[in-house]
Amino acid sequence: MRKFLIAGNWKMNLNASDGADLANDVVSFVGKQTSVNVCICPPFTSMEAVAKSVEGSNVLLGAQNMHPEASGAYTGEISAVMLRHLFCSHVILGHSERREYFKESDAFINEKVKTALNSNLKPILCVGETLEQRESGQTSEIVRTQIQGGLSGILGSQADGLVIAYEPVWAIGTGKTATPEMAQEVHAEIRSLLGSQINEEVANRTRILYGGSMKAENAMELLAQEDIDGGLIGGASLKGNSFNAIIEAAIELSA
Ligand code: PEP
Repeated sequence: MRKFLIAGNWKMNLNASDGADLANDVVSFVGKQTSVNVCICPPFTSMEAVAKSVEGSNVLLGAQNMHPEASGAYTGEISAVMLRHLFCSHVILGHSERREYFKESDAFINEKVKTALNSNLKPILCVGETLEQRESGQTSEIVRTQIQGGLSGILGSQADGLVIAYEPVWAIGTGKTATPEMAQEVHAEIRSLLGSQINEEVANRTRILYGGSMKAENAMELLAQEDIDGGLIGGASLKGNSFNAIIEAAIELSA
């Protein structure tokens, strides 16, 4: 059985003090429950404050990006070593906003995925099609290219902790959500790609999250799908009550 992972992507929102308050809210809600994994991914400036809030709790800390090199002349960048120093366990890689606004290629994302796995950080590799690509019937091809490129050269023995997030770009921050059936279809395709590209064992144990306007009202039916193993949540992760309601749906489904 794959345990649900509910991850909050705060994007470029909240200062350190508001971030610590929100993290405290999530920590008290999660309490001692361990049936669902919960992770919050604040901006870098709030990372240390949030690390203190989640210390000793069942809430994990994630980052929204990192550079593939360990150190060096990369102005404005953050390395895996720096993230591990703050006890970060997860890192979002290849988010569609990074692909679009920062022109990140599958090859560059692949370097980061490899560094994360070699550094004991669990990558949350994001893939997904735009509206235009979906409407022209290219969803499977786009997702396949992103999975094959992003995971190129990764062996089964290295894929421990790998997480994939299927995030249809047209559903991110738009209020439009893929129907549970639409999402399930792509999740099943991703799982089968993992099987052919890495191996069946990795395909069965890798968590595939759905992302794109997930909220309390639709979380239950999305999470109930066979191949949906959690959520990557943007907007609804910025308020304790809406994020905690999604965690609650996952806890209920795990019971
Ligand atoms: C995201 O950015 O990863 C995301 C899913 O955002 P939202 O939940 O706001 O659509």
